[in-house]
Amino acid sequence: MSSTLPPRRLGILAAMHDELAGLLAQMGPDAVVHRIGLRDYHVGELYGQACVLVLARIGKVAAAATTVTLIREFGVDRIVFTGLAGGIGPGVRVGDVVVGQTLVQHDMDARPLFARHEVPLLGRASFETDAALNARLRASALAYVAEEMSTDIDAATRADFGIDVPVVHDGLIASGDTFVHAAGMASSLLDALPEVLCVEMEGAAVAQICHEYAVPCAVLRTVSDRADSTASVDFRAFLERVASVYAVGILRRFLQGA
Ligand code: SAH
Repeated sequence: MSSTLPPRRLGILAAMHDELAGLLAQMGPDAVVHRIGLRDYHVGELYGQACVLVLARIGKVAAAATTVTLIREFGVDRIVFTGLAGGIGPGVRVGDVVVGQTLVQHDMDARPLFARHEVPLLGRASFETDAALNARLRASALAYVAEEMSTDIDAATRADFGIDVPVVHDGLIASGDTFVHAAGMASSLLDALPEVLCVEMEGAAVAQICHEYAVPCAVLRTVSDRADSTASVDFRAFLERVASVYAVGILRRFLQGA
C-alpha cells in the first residue's frame, strides 16, 4: 500500500468581492477556475499553499452550499472564512479582529419543539471551530495589526474609521440572515446571547457544515461597523477601503506560517 498522503488543500471563502479581491490577485493568473452553481472556484497556490478561493455570496444558505462544494468537489481538508462583521460586544470596535471560537445561528428558533438556537436533529446550538487554525489566525492577526496595519492603511483612513490600536478578540460569533443595522436589533441579540462579540451572516453555516463533514474550520472577521443606525454607511466604506487589505495582511502571514 502506498504511504503517500493526499495533497493538503485549504478552502478560503468570503461573502463579497472586496473581501476576496486582494487574495485573488495574489493567486495570480495560473489559477484554474471552475464554475459551479453560480460560483467561481479558483484552484491554485497562495503563498506556497494549495488553496481553493471562492466568493460564497451573502447569507447562510449561500455559505453552506459553497462549503459543501469545497469539501465534496475540491477535497479541501481545512476551511477558513474571511469577512466583515458588525461588532456588538462591549469593547468590540471598528477595525478590531474577531476569531470565532464558537458560532451560533441567532435566527434559528424551532421552539417549542427544540430549545432556542438549537439546530434541529443535530442536538446542538453552537459549533466549535478548530483550535489549531484559530491559534495560527490569532497569531497572524496580532502580528499584522502590530507590525503592518499602520503602513498598509494610511493615517487619514485610520482616522476616518476611528481605528487606533485594533484588538484581536476570540469568542462567540452570531450568524443570521439579517443585516443588523439598529441599536435595538443589536441589544435584543445580546439579550438572547450575552457573550456575542460580533454578528454576521455566514459563519455558523460554514461551521455547521464543517461539523457535519468533520472538516476543521475557522472564521476570521474584521469589524466594519457597530451594527447600529450607521452600520450600512460604515460597512460600505470599510468594505471599499479597508476589508481586502486586512484579509491579505492576516492570511498571508497565516499561509506563510503553515
Ligand atoms: N451587499 C449589501 C449587503 C451586505 S450584507 C451591501 O453592500 O449593503 C453584509 C455582509 O457583511 C454579510 O456578508 C455579513 O456577513 C457581513 N456583515 C458586516 N456587518 C454586518 C452587520 N452589521 N450585520 C450582519 N452582517 C454584517
